[in-house]
Amino acid sequence: MSAQKNTPHVVAFAFPFGSHPTPLLHLIQRLATALPGTHFSYFNTARSNQRVLSKVNLHGYDNVKAYDVDDGAPDGHVFSGNPMEAIEMFIKATPENFRRRLEDVVGETGMKATCFLTDAFLWFSVEMAEEMGIPWVAFWSSGPTPVSLHMYTDLIHSRLKENDNTEDQDQTLDFLPGMSAIHVSDLPQELLHLDRPFSRLLYDMSLALPRAAALVLNSFAGIEPIVEDDLKLKLQKVLNVGPFSSLPSPTPPSDDQGGCLSWLSNQSPASVAYLSFGTMLTPPPPELVALAEALEEKQIPYLWSFRDNSKRHLLEGFFERTKSIGKIVQWAPQLQVLEHSAVGAFITHCGWNSVMEGITGGVPMICRPFFGDQMINRRRMEDVWGIGVGVDGGVFTKSGTVAALDLVLTKQGKKMRENIGKLGECASRAFAENGSSTENFKSLVGIVTSSHPV
Ligand code: UDP
Repeated sequence: MSAQKNTPHVVAFAFPFGSHPTPLLHLIQRLATALPGTHFSYFNTARSNQRVLSKVNLHGYDNVKAYDVDDGAPDGHVFSGNPMEAIEMFIKATPENFRRRLEDVVGETGMKATCFLTDAFLWFSVEMAEEMGIPWVAFWSSGPTPVSLHMYTDLIHSRLKENDNTEDQDQTLDFLPGMSAIHVSDLPQELLHLDRPFSRLLYDMSLALPRAAALVLNSFAGIEPIVEDDLKLKLQKVLNVGPFSSLPSPTPPSDDQGGCLSWLSNQSPASVAYLSFGTMLTPPPPELVALAEALEEKQIPYLWSFRDNSKRHLLEGFFERTKSIGKIVQWAPQLQVLEHSAVGAFITHCGWNSVMEGITGGVPMICRPFFGDQMINRRRMEDVWGIGVGVDGGVFTKSGTVAALDLVLTKQGKKMRENIGKLGECASRAFAENGSSTENFKSLVGIVTSSHPV
């Protein structure tokens, strides 16, 4: 497509941490295919763009262009390793970093923005959109429950204060629609304590979301029906357009440098434990050791996506002793790994993308959440959907991990697979012709082009 002055121009802002930027770019790719006459500009920090664009291939997407924005870190800054440091620097640089870069791009290309499609966290996009008289579409990269909880921040605070029982971690949130399974202990810290810049960003997001033309989720209708219905009462439009993991994945997989898939092909059906803790996390050293001891004692074949080189020495001996049954890689093609019939258990931190991929792959999960929405996702998986188990005491110990592996690989695995199968069918139906995600995607296309019909 040759971009011209009056070409419709969708502007996407990414939140550059964790897995946030990737699903947003996948959504843009789908829209760019559906709307070849529309241009899509994707703004993300240089560091995050480098990572995302090494895994998401934009070749053939002539109407998508990625741009770098300032990450707020002074030149030469050495990060402490605490992820909150980078997040807070980035937040401080917003919204001016995005605004300036967008002005440059509009100046260079002559294409005015006709729609904002941004990570929901970047709520200030609504102010830019309203100044320009164009819609803001917010993309929420987790499930319906966490966003709904954010919408109830004030009520949660006042109820906890009223009852003067903030310490009662077992109290459930049964005063909120669809939340009777959620406990106070499941709530993200950033919802409970509003004093940090990141918490403030999410609180401001909850106030801004009713101004969004639509909230788009990488989820599917029916997975949390009461919460979804309640969200629909509060927001202009709620569009589940996922799970993205149900869409055809690239063949051959773009990133299997470690040879995971050929290794899996030599394993017995449903025998392998796949371990991955997402893009940001590695469990603390005692838990890594406990995990390794459990796998070794049970002689369970394992595939471990192990990203943190600084902690690898802790497990060198284990990797050496178990190399005939195990494989360790820096990055696995997770989607295809979870679809492989050899995988029998997924040991996960319960990030939303991993949960969706576990469901569409049909793999029961062993859950060890750490922060953010992960505790909520664990609660749904274990107590509501029956597709996963937590580890005893909430942290990996040798005995707790052995017990969880026993449950998933033998005793309860069959029942969990049945439950996952039902959810997986629901996800597949969402993508059928006239399925809810198919229809919602069409609505999204309509909103994205509404201020500039194509
Ligand atoms: N992922 C992957 N290979 C790996 C580790 C992670 O493909 O070796 C992908 C995984 O498929 C998922 C994403 O990284 O799509 C992690 O997202 P999630 O929401 O689960 O966790 P986060 O990184 O946000 O904590």
